[in-house]
Amino acid sequence: MDISLVESFSLDHTQVQAPFVRLAGRYRGPKGDVISKFDLRFVQPNQGAIPTGAMHTLEHLLAISFREEMEGVIDVSPMGCRTGFYFLVFGEVDSHAVLDAFKNVLEKVIAAKEIPAATAVQCGNFQDHSLSGAIEYARKALDGLHVHE
Ligand SMILES: [Zn+2]
Repeated sequence: MDISLVESFSLDHTQVQAPFVRLAGRYRGPKGDVISKFDLRFVQPNQGAIPTGAMHTLEHLLAISFREEMEGVIDVSPMGCRTGFYFLVFGEVDSHAVLDAFKNVLEKVIAAKEIPAATAVQCGNFQDHSLSGAIEYARKALDGLHVHE
């Protein structure tokens, strides 16, 4: 396996400045459909990480809010390093459109009063959540959020 095929392993994580939105790839399927992948970085790599409860609550809130803000959303999933999320969407979506949507999403997180789908039926670890933590990291991400070109 050529690790350069994994896009994030070829990104120099010391040369980015969080918080940012970054186009991480465009993929064309065999039928011609295009998928855009973005790196939504909350925390500066190797200088911190979002605690699991806050990360998990952000995952739930982002799953709902991004679908309200944009058409064609496929997935918003946490990075294992807990510094951000991957965002996948159908089409040749522009980074600045994602930035605008992401800002609205973060405002919704800050205003959230409850955690969606935080039940044993709907979630795989429903007790590991932190709404206050999610709000704290959403506030931090809004401060200086920009497109990484
Ligand atoms: Zn969950």
